[in-house]
Amino acid sequence: MTRLIEIGRKAQTQNKFHKMINYFLKNRGPKIGPLNFLFLQPTSFCNLACKYCYLPDTTINKKMSIQTIEEVIKWIRNSDLEFVKSHPLQVIWHAGEPLFCSPKYYKEAFELFKTNLSNVSIEHIIQTNGTLITQEFCDLFKDYNVRIGISIDGPPDIHDLNRVDKHGKGSFSATCRGIELLQKNNINFGVLSVIGKKTLLRQKEYIDFILDKNITNIGLLFEAPNAGKSNEFVGTQNDEYEEIEKFIAEMMRLSIKNKNKIQLRELRSTLQAIMSTDQNFKTSESIEQTPFTFLNVLQNGDFSTFSPDLLGEKISAPPFKDETVVFGNVYKDKLEDVLKSQIFLDTLKKIQQGSEKCKKTCEYFRFCQGGRPYYKALMNQDLSSTETIYCRVNIKSVTNVFLKNFEEFKTL
Ligand code: SF4
Repeated sequence: MTRLIEIGRKAQTQNKFHKMINYFLKNRGPKIGPLNFLFLQPTSFCNLACKYCYLPDTTINKKMSIQTIEEVIKWIRNSDLEFVKSHPLQVIWHAGEPLFCSPKYYKEAFELFKTNLSNVSIEHIIQTNGTLITQEFCDLFKDYNVRIGISIDGPPDIHDLNRVDKHGKGSFSATCRGIELLQKNNINFGVLSVIGKKTLLRQKEYIDFILDKNITNIGLLFEAPNAGKSNEFVGTQNDEYEEIEKFIAEMMRLSIKNKNKIQLRELRSTLQAIMSTDQNFKTSESIEQTPFTFLNVLQNGDFSTFSPDLLGEKISAPPFKDETVVFGNVYKDKLEDVLKSQIFLDTLKKIQQGSEKCKKTCEYFRFCQGGRPYYKALMNQDLSSTETIYCRVNIKSVTNVFLKNFEEFKTL
């Protein structure tokens, strides 16, 4: 503290003093940032009622005002956070159904980013159920180079098992209408599919669907037990792993055979982990463990960091003990105060303990670097734990499949 006061005395302006405090915190406090991802939840409302959805408030339209978006940008600037250099800052609009907000809303929001963070390269991404895509949205996506992720789980009878509207009616045809409109407008998009028990039993139909719809960029999310109502989750029984690995192998084969045409996120991340020679290489799991690489903001400006799914959730794992995960609010809490708060420091400590244990005990550490804090909290009720069902499926099985089939993959 005496040193901080000395530095302060030497500073000639308030602004310099502020910068020095940040410098001091960055160098003496926990290592934070650089900011890679800004997750914004523009509305809590969703027009669907997917059975595995864990979000609260999807029947209420709590909306993030344009003023709050402005405040988020101001908060980032005042916090003097560094920005990621290896890719643009990704601003991800998700949770609830983001396209429930109008094209006019997004135009205003995107312009705010352009004007007020003009020195930062920014890429906007919208993760949507696709049912509300219109031509006006397509024009917006093209004008602002927005990346689109569509949630679709496979052919109609698989997709409609879980992805239903509030009356229980399947959403497959509405989502496909959205996809067709994107394709008609030559807008690239990625697909995120939740893979449950039924998909594992009907792998060929899922693959035929991918080919039939000309889907070129796929991410697989194996359904995990969560607060939702579905019980289609996979990975809880040891005897399921043969089918899980068979499915991953088929998807990898499909991607490798189609070379650059079909990209599979799981294959890409495994290859990156194997081939990277960068000493500082970080997996997406480890980025979630570093404070303020993610800034996650709710409609009212409440924010958190680490895994975006933690935000606003009631988590029973210590240090939250059934409290909602929020570290501050952009209207009133400064970064330097959050970094000193007990709840933030306790959370960070638990996450780091978990990662250290993983490093000592797990032979898959290179492919994962300690896992996603959200799944440790959700599945083990312990942020400092190691293996989760999520990592058994999404890291260990994916790696096993790649290594087991490497000789065959080379020949495809
Ligand atoms: S135990 Fe799981 S979370 Fe930990 S490093 Fe291994 S694969 Fe990752």
